[in-house]
Amino acid sequence: MKDELKKGINSPIYTSTSFEFIDQEDTVYPRYLNTPNEKAVAEKIASLENAESALVFSSGMAAISSVLFTFLGQGDHAVFQKGLYGGTSHFLEKEFERFGITCTVAASQRAEDMEACIRENTRLLYIETPSNPLLSITDIQAVAELAQKRRLISVIDNTFASPVNQQPAGLGIDLVVHSATKYMGGHSDILAGALAGRAGLMKEIHQTALNFGGSLNANTLYLLERSLKTIHVRVERINDNAMELAHFLDMHPRVAQVNYPGLPGHPGHEIASRQMTGFGGMLSFEVDGQEGIGFQKQLKLIKPSMSLGGLESICSSPAHTSHRHLGPEGRKAEGISEELIRLSVGIEDVEDLKADLEQALTSP
Ligand SMILES: *Cc1c(COP(=O)(O)O)cnc(C)c1O
Repeated sequence: MKDELKKGINSPIYTSTSFEFIDQEDTVYPRYLNTPNEKAVAEKIASLENAESALVFSSGMAAISSVLFTFLGQGDHAVFQKGLYGGTSHFLEKEFERFGITCTVAASQRAEDMEACIRENTRLLYIETPSNPLLSITDIQAVAELAQKRRLISVIDNTFASPVNQQPAGLGIDLVVHSATKYMGGHSDILAGALAGRAGLMKEIHQTALNFGGSLNANTLYLLERSLKTIHVRVERINDNAMELAHFLDMHPRVAQVNYPGLPGHPGHEIASRQMTGFGGMLSFEVDGQEGIGFQKQLKLIKPSMSLGGLESICSSPAHTSHRHLGPEGRKAEGISEELIRLSVGIEDVEDLKADLEQALTSP
């Protein structure tokens, strides 16, 4: 945003909730998602995603719920890929039924398996790639083409990749959602969401979103705008660190399994190489014969923490955190073991990260 008054290099922060109004068409009001700070950030995100238009929300879930409740109503059905972010699956389980919405979670991430779930009343296809916490890869273009063929709205959660590594709008996806709490915010200090996509659909979402009230305040919008200035350098460094750690873990005799789409042995590597320009900062692995919760306690630099996408490397044990509610049987069905550790790689010196993993892997 241009600082018209003083020509400063940064965007001024417009904190007002009351703007002069006499006889213009539109009134400016934060909940209407039309303040100067909202517009400045939305424009940047649209540009990062190579999309026609964008909106910023108060959380990733505010963005996700606004999309779903804009296009799904009584009697409608939606198809979701397998392996969704915990908050999204919780949303489907808890909110859809009382609004008369039904959904099917496909047997896998494959477009064919999603197609098999389409019914007469299906309106929307929803994917998430790379997925949490196994980093499975969905063929974005295949799903976009399926949606076009069947005249459905296609939605992707692009949080794990960030717009630096993956721009699904260019592959034909209609709407791209983000938890901007993660890589976009990037410093583990703001909660925000974003949505980018086709202008016509975005206009419909805007009309619904102002009724739901999930707008973001000016101060946090400013912080998000500041974060976006460094998203490329942060994510590129994180990509490099994650690739090196994935190779390091893959070669380690105590590590049984590494899930990272940048590794040639990963089942989604070929598709990921086509649709991503970098493989991101998320990876997961299993230490032979050691439960994740115990392994975490041996790490010194890498901290066991929730969330992801910050500057500091953090780890979690999905069996005890995000996927705890599934129970042992449910986790088995999802392929999530007790040993699994999820790592959100940060910007530290990669040698320090390797040394920390090495001492934890070799400690008795
Ligand atoms: C964190 C996250 C969300 C939810 O975002 P909030 O900002 O916590 O509301 C959605 N999708 C993915 C993949 C996430 O990691």
